[in-house]
Amino acid sequence: MDEGLNRKKSKDLSNLRPALAFLRPYLRQVVYASIALVITAAVTLSIGQGMRLVIDQGLNEGSSEVLVQTLGLFAALMILLTFGTFMRFYFVSWVGERVSADIRLAVFSHIIRLHPGFFDANQPTEIQSRITTDTTVLQTVIGSSVSIALRNALMFLGGLVLLFITNAKLSLIVIASVPFVVAPVVLFGRRVRRLSRSSQDSLAEVGSYAGESLRHIKVVQSFNHEPLDERAFGHRVENAFSVAVRRVRQRAILIALVMLLVLVAIATMLWVGGQDVLTGNISQGELAAFIFYAFIVAGSVGAISEVYSDLQRAAGAAERLMELLQSPSALSEPDQPVQLPDDAPGRLIVNDLSFAYPSRVSAAVLKGVSFQVLPGEMVALVGPSGAGKSTLFDLLLRFYDPLGGAVLLDGVDIRALSLAETRRRVGYVPQEAVLFAGTLRQNLNYGYPQASEEDLADALQLAHADEFVNLLPDGLETLVGEGGSGLSGGQKQRLAIARALVPRPQILLLDEATSALDAESEERIRNSIETLKGRCSILVIAHRLSTVRQADRILVLENGALIASGDHNSLLGSSELYARFARIQFASDTPSNSPNWRSTAG
Ligand code: ATP
Repeated sequence: MDEGLNRKKSKDLSNLRPALAFLRPYLRQVVYASIALVITAAVTLSIGQGMRLVIDQGLNEGSSEVLVQTLGLFAALMILLTFGTFMRFYFVSWVGERVSADIRLAVFSHIIRLHPGFFDANQPTEIQSRITTDTTVLQTVIGSSVSIALRNALMFLGGLVLLFITNAKLSLIVIASVPFVVAPVVLFGRRVRRLSRSSQDSLAEVGSYAGESLRHIKVVQSFNHEPLDERAFGHRVENAFSVAVRRVRQRAILIALVMLLVLVAIATMLWVGGQDVLTGNISQGELAAFIFYAFIVAGSVGAISEVYSDLQRAAGAAERLMELLQSPSALSEPDQPVQLPDDAPGRLIVNDLSFAYPSRVSAAVLKGVSFQVLPGEMVALVGPSGAGKSTLFDLLLRFYDPLGGAVLLDGVDIRALSLAETRRRVGYVPQEAVLFAGTLRQNLNYGYPQASEEDLADALQLAHADEFVNLLPDGLETLVGEGGSGLSGGQKQRLAIARALVPRPQILLLDEATSALDAESEERIRNSIETLKGRCSILVIAHRLSTVRQADRILVLENGALIASGDHNSLLGSSELYARFARIQFASDTPSNSPNWRSTAG
């Protein structure tokens, strides 16, 4: 599956079958739509017979009574047709919208629970576009193309039968001319389709180029890159235009050719049929009805060939969506998860943990790491960039499963707990505080929507974030933009800590920000950690001396292996690596300008 997302698009219509399963709950609506479909097709077909009656009996025999009667019937049929058309359009579109909404929801619900490694191999932007564009394709197809195809198939069959009933000889002329009409439709249709696909692709390119430039507008402008972007964008737009023009040209030729062929066929019919009318073999009404049915049959063939490509497109879209829906998660939930007691103390044991990323299996990222964090203890994790610190956190949160060894929470392997249980007990503060667009309150109770006012106040106080929140005119109702714009780095950091504390985790994983915070913010975060000490276990990826000094114990990680542990002073003596780093890193460590381990890596 991981590489399958970029596989060549399939057009096999059988791929639509799994998507059809989504229709099952709406059989009632499908039945209504089908009844309406049959009614409208039958009424349309009966118009030809009506025409025959009007011409032969009303007009030719000069009987105004018959004329009035048939027109009355005609009016009744029109009312039925109007009602049927409304029903058909309403229910078919309703089902299309409903099914695509259900598929969107199903795909989103599925992928939001997939293992994070899935998104290393599959671009989130591509998945996002699938959820929107592929479901829109399905919506159009289920909500209109299928109905067009079915209606025209009915009209084609009915029209053909009525053609033969009306006049077999003329029908044979029509049948004989079908290949001449269908051949160019198929030939040019294929070209049009190919070009519309590349037209879609080049349009998508235009969209993604614009999207990327606008997303990084400050970088674009700071490098005076606007003229270059303008040129590159213009190039793509022109490319999309020229592909579109080629498509339009093929289509124009196709339409003109079909018109010509249809007119030639009609002229032939009029010629042959006209002769028959003159010799009295058939009536004028019959000829009129015949031409009407010929139009219906030709029109339905055209309509079906038109929507056939839509169906193929939908098959591709359905296949991709079903692939997403069927992607298994690499993290299996236990059938019978172990339930830890509510008052479990939160003792963390990491036992001989080994790991390599699925995308780079040969590169061991963690090699037999073992340590434990006692309830209430604070442990700092230090080591050069790429040592595997963040990866260790990923394993503690069970974003990945280890290749060897285990993570134990209060004596239970986290693979035996439900994912939700693990993540409820382990709080996480990422290096770059990620806040979501919404109010501060929504961000704070993100992991625990049922949090009370007191829970929020406690968490804010523990994270030393209450002061600045209270000073905001709207307090907790203050809106923050996507990514937390409108707040300073230190404020975001403290909010992220508060957010992690709201569900009252037993173990807090804190990935310390490497970006320099101002002295005051740093002091506040230090205080906040100090307040937390003893209340829950803290494992912190430390980049500053002040944090390292706060810790009860320091673990030194290098190249995925734990090479030393102890407190700052003892490590200075016992670990050469730590002493060297401490010298370089912490010598000039001031709260507002703390270099970090990162800068000396490699
Ligand atoms: P830093 O302090 O710079 O964040 P770190 O100690 O946290 O470094 P990790 O991010 O855990 O290091 O990375 C450890 C190794 O794993 C690195 O060599 C990195 O290139 C690799 N790595 C990290 N994420 C992935 C991934 N998603 N796929 C493949 N390899 C990865």
